[in-house]
Amino acid sequence: MIAKVTAKAMDRVLQVNLEKRHRQYLYRSRVNISSGCSAVVNADGKQLYNFCSNDYLGLASHGDIAQAFKQGVDKYGTGSGASHLISGHSEAHEHLENQLAEFTKRPRALLFSSGYMANMGVISALVGRHDLVLQDYLNHASLLDGGLLSRAAFQRFKHRDTENLDAKLSAADGARKLVVTDAVFSMDGDLAPLEDIATVAARHNGWLMVDDAHGFGVLGSSGGGLIEELNLSIDQVPILMGTLGKAFATYGAFVAGSEALIETLIQFSRNYIYTTAPPPAIAVATSASLKLVQSEQWRRDKLNQLIARFRSGALQIGLQLMDSKTPIQPVLMDADQTGQKVLEISGKLRDSGFMVGAIRPPTVPEGTGRLRITLSANHSEEQVDALLDALDRCR
Ligand SMILES: *Cc1c(COP(=O)(O)O)cnc(C)c1O
Repeated sequence: MIAKVTAKAMDRVLQVNLEKRHRQYLYRSRVNISSGCSAVVNADGKQLYNFCSNDYLGLASHGDIAQAFKQGVDKYGTGSGASHLISGHSEAHEHLENQLAEFTKRPRALLFSSGYMANMGVISALVGRHDLVLQDYLNHASLLDGGLLSRAAFQRFKHRDTENLDAKLSAADGARKLVVTDAVFSMDGDLAPLEDIATVAARHNGWLMVDDAHGFGVLGSSGGGLIEELNLSIDQVPILMGTLGKAFATYGAFVAGSEALIETLIQFSRNYIYTTAPPPAIAVATSASLKLVQSEQWRRDKLNQLIARFRSGALQIGLQLMDSKTPIQPVLMDADQTGQKVLEISGKLRDSGFMVGAIRPPTVPEGTGRLRITLSANHSEEQVDALLDALDRCR
């Protein structure tokens, strides 16, 4: 009896915030997908064109990766059974780590269970109470949360602004200074000026960490991300992080860098140590995926053609785009009533057969809202044209 009363009291408190979120048009709800991730999905019983996945290369439905996954399960079963430091570290993990090290041209790589965990785990292992962490204003939530968790002094520099970063580093007196940035910004699709950031960080003895969750697979001549495209060395970017659930179409994340960096993470990263190792079969599947990412250049070529087609079509009908050459193509809303308007338009698009991201605060700054459209190599030109027609009709 007492437990019931307590739960009710808690619910009354929670309900206030839930209702507030509704009133602000910020309430989130989930869609039930009853098909695999592909260009067309079945969402709540309706066939929709999927323009909101991060499956940029269209590999999530690839038979070779599925086959490898099955073979991995046949060989290793389902769960890993323990954390990496106990008995969960499989030869399949080790093999993939070696492949990722080679892929990123770094001495070593280390797998994490997810990108969120990797970012929390890296930052809090590298800096603490007497240190400083400096982050781009629009960094991914997992990087910001990692900074807060680390207990280092926490500052943000203006988006893509190396002068502002320089000024903040000049004024800083942390023992260690960690500079952190997305390579491709996840909500805007624009790129960090990595070369300049690396120069500024090095000038102040700062350590640079780059999260290229959206660049790996998509940018660079073999899918090695913005680091490969700009040919940045380990001296310029000593801490490189990527995720495996986006273009790689499996699950998990990795950090690549020096022997000392990787050993430090194995010894001190709580998010690495105190969690169950991912199923080995996922590592087997990711090895198959990595092979396709590197060898099937046509996927990047096609993706780039679709991006160009979308942008020129969108500009013709007067949509407000951002400065993005990546598959992340946000369409901005006018400044007033953004949350409501984003929901209204994405609802209309859904009725017309298109699924796009309706992005509202706190994912993007207060008072802004956007449709987040993402393109994939398994879209067709006709589907992109049809999306543009629907956007024209629904706005
Ligand atoms: C998606 C994303 C992450 C989180 O990766 P998960 O594997 O999904 O946890 C981290 N950083 C950026 C920039 C991302 O876009």
